[in-house]
Amino acid sequence: MNILVLGAGQLARMMSLSATHLDLHVLAYDVGSKQVIDPVTFVTTDFTLEHAISRSHAITAEFEHIPHDVLTLCAQSGKFYPGAEAIATGGDRAKEKALLDKAKVACAPYQLITQKSHFLSAIERLGMPLVVKTCQAGYDGKGQWRVKSQNDVEQIWSEMAEFIASGTEHAPHSIIAEKMIPFDREVSIIGVRDKQGQCKTYPLTENQHTNGVLTLSIAGKEKHEIEQQAQDAFNAIANALDYVGVLAIEFFDVQGTLLVNEIAPRVHNSGHWTQQGCHVSQFENHMRAVAGLPLGSTELLRPTAMINVLGQPAIAHSVLAVPDTTSHWYSKAAKPGRKMGHINVSGKDLKQLGERLDELAAILPEQDYPGVKATACSLIGA
Ligand code: ATP
Ligand code: MG
Repeated sequence: MNILVLGAGQLARMMSLSATHLDLHVLAYDVGSKQVIDPVTFVTTDFTLEHAISRSHAITAEFEHIPHDVLTLCAQSGKFYPGAEAIATGGDRAKEKALLDKAKVACAPYQLITQKSHFLSAIERLGMPLVVKTCQAGYDGKGQWRVKSQNDVEQIWSEMAEFIASGTEHAPHSIIAEKMIPFDREVSIIGVRDKQGQCKTYPLTENQHTNGVLTLSIAGKEKHEIEQQAQDAFNAIANALDYVGVLAIEFFDVQGTLLVNEIAPRVHNSGHWTQQGCHVSQFENHMRAVAGLPLGSTELLRPTAMINVLGQPAIAHSVLAVPDTTSHWYSKAAKPGRKMGHINVSGKDLKQLGERLDELAAILPEQDYPGVKATACSLIGA
């Protein structure tokens, strides 16, 4: 069976790697170069997008900011999962909030902004500090402002106005202001829904961000009650979208109550640990769902952590000497801050996972891999 992935980055690559043994053959459409390529070897084909669509049994996406014409073409084929509406919702925070309201899932109080008076009333109603985000085109903390005091208002408004003005009639730009949530921590749930509507969720993941970018995720720590909230949110959102495939939901944990931060209609960085922590990874389950195959187990085999490799030219081979540690390299050109790969490490229990993270912390410098040592200490002490 042939599967086409829109986007040719590491997520398409890991989908391909997880699908080959099921006899599923993945090609990726690079929206930048407009070429159809093998996302593992990067060898280009001479297929046009139209030909790649016609020879595929299923089409999916690794990111949500897909050009409108490409999305329309794929949707028209009747083979596109999770569907154009899900992708459009994940790529536009205004649509996302409307979906959350419709599905009755709690999120941060917000206000949409298309003119200055909306901005001023958001400051009045939601208070400062205020988090302001572009509704379209944001990722990894980009396209965001923090309004801390009255002194910030004019400068930030001029940058916001520039973004709003750069929209077109076909693709209008808007902005959303959110109340700054005093969260205790950030967590996410990754789940999968099949074509018959059956849902399965992976265990809740705790996520650490540094400068707006995910640096470390850990699974296997959670209590039943909080997982239930996340699962209920997953089921409500996935059903509202009649979703097929893997969907990720990021939350703020505020004293045991979860508020949705955002959703991602795709496999997600905070689910990379499932490659070693579960029998069937998020990548394989996404491939199974879009291909119409039975879903695999999402149960936790053992507590597992994922450490992102950001901007580094390589992963030290010595990490592989730490028991139950695997490195995943994406073969991209190094740039400061760029997601270059990740390291997964598992333990039979949280204490052993902590000890292994401690061994990794001796290899991975704190400035490049923040939080590894502190997480190790908290797990060993727990
Ligand atoms: P990514 O694509 O990497 O998930 P993003 O650019 O889509 O990031 P968000 O997830 O919306 O952006 O925000 C990035 C980070 O900023 C969050 O993980 C959180 O740490 C912080 N943040 C965002 N919104 C709020 C809020 N309303 N209150 C407090 N912190 C926030
Ligand atoms: Mg996010």
